[in-house]
Amino acid sequence: MTNSWNFEATYLDLRDIFYDRGPVHPVDKPVLVLWNEALAETLGLDAEARQDVALFAGNRQTDTSFSQAYAGHQFGHFTMLGDGRALMLGEHVAPNGKRVDVQLKGSGPTEYSRGGDGRAAVGPMVREFLISEAMHALGIPTNRALAVVTTGEPIMRQGPKHGAILTRVASSHLRVGTFQYAAAAGSIDDVIALADYAIHRHDPDLEGKPDRYEQFLGRVITRQAKLIAEWQLVGFIHGVMNTDNTFISGEGLDYGPCAFMDTYHPNTVFSSIDREGRYAYANQPYIESWNLARLAETLLPLLADTQEAAVDIANKLLNDYTETYKDAYFTGLAHKIGLYVRKDGDDALTDELLRLMMESEADFTNTFRALTLGDTDALVFAKQDDGKAWLAAWRKRLGEQGLPDEDVTRLMRQHNPAVIPRNHHVEAAIQAAERGDFDPTHALLDVLRNPYDYEADCGRYVSPGPPRTYPYQTFCGT
Ligand code: AMP
Ligand code: MG
Repeated sequence: MTNSWNFEATYLDLRDIFYDRGPVHPVDKPVLVLWNEALAETLGLDAEARQDVALFAGNRQTDTSFSQAYAGHQFGHFTMLGDGRALMLGEHVAPNGKRVDVQLKGSGPTEYSRGGDGRAAVGPMVREFLISEAMHALGIPTNRALAVVTTGEPIMRQGPKHGAILTRVASSHLRVGTFQYAAAAGSIDDVIALADYAIHRHDPDLEGKPDRYEQFLGRVITRQAKLIAEWQLVGFIHGVMNTDNTFISGEGLDYGPCAFMDTYHPNTVFSSIDREGRYAYANQPYIESWNLARLAETLLPLLADTQEAAVDIANKLLNDYTETYKDAYFTGLAHKIGLYVRKDGDDALTDELLRLMMESEADFTNTFRALTLGDTDALVFAKQDDGKAWLAAWRKRLGEQGLPDEDVTRLMRQHNPAVIPRNHHVEAAIQAAERGDFDPTHALLDVLRNPYDYEADCGRYVSPGPPRTYPYQTFCGT
């Protein structure tokens, strides 16, 4: 076993209502099938770390391992949850001093399993690996995927599936739902202890400040507003934006029934469990604001001496969410069409582009890709009168900017991925993985590592796929 891991467990300083340290559930024949060497390097792991399959299989009880309690609003309904199938191996302190949580998903039942088997199927773990690494490469805050092992044990879902365990890495696993849990199951002292812990890990510059809880709430709100704007700007639909799937750190997580949108429509939903479209593309910014209001509620007693004053503070911060989100989103859209500085009228210009895309059922990613490449003939709306009018208005606005074409192109290349994880490729990789073939996953990962590389030969990965695959549905099935 390597000694390049440097595990601690400061989380265990919290009161024991916050975690479970139940027994591990070893598996017989774990096999490492995916490994993220680049991430291993940033964590300071040596070559031996990869060999320690027993660790990634959750076969060893350690001093630093635990599962976390949390609650959450799932599709609007409050439930007590917790890591029903996850085991924290500990907090690894990397050579660069950064503390990260290293967690197994699919490692067996815990106190929080609520009757579930605590296991995960290989397909969904491959999806989570692919999407989190694609997100990271896109420059969008996310937890990371380090490894997948298959367990050699069958699990029952819709039919038998191969079991697998994902090792994931995050700057912490503190969720809005962790605060909801502290408020519901603990006392005000538990909420304070958790908030202090979160501040220590994520916003240490606030420690000791009299208004630290207010500022902390503001920071979480800002991070989430920016995260959701980034998702919108690449057409990503998370699918299960429950409060337990919302990290305090502002990183995204739990890429289950999620997908990148192909044909642009604001009402797009992929998740088979989201029948009412609660988490549709256009709803994501509002849902996040709702989730943050749930966080604010738990912190009210920490914000001011009277309830009224606390509510005023929380409301102000939640209003800031809308401003921060809109600014990040519309500025990002302006960048996507080559505008360095967003001016009056630009929001109307980008809105009109989105309207054209919606009416002509244009592909989200490939529309911006074509604009970036100057390939406007490829646009489905290029020959319509309103399409021509938009292109003329856009060129006029670019002209006013007075910058060389190379500068415009550079900006657009930075903000418009040439390639995203296309649903048909993700599905093909998952299906192959279910048969024990991880080559398509590796090939897809190679392409997704450089999403802004317009010179790379990513030919077939650019196509939205055959139309008959729609409507595409992703399943929790998990
Ligand atoms: P997720 O959809 O992965 O965010 O999970 C939501 C909640 O259900 C979390 O508390 C999970 O730990 C729990 N959960 C999901 N699948 C299982 C399972 N197979 N066994 C036990 N708990 C599970
Ligand atoms: Mg979750």
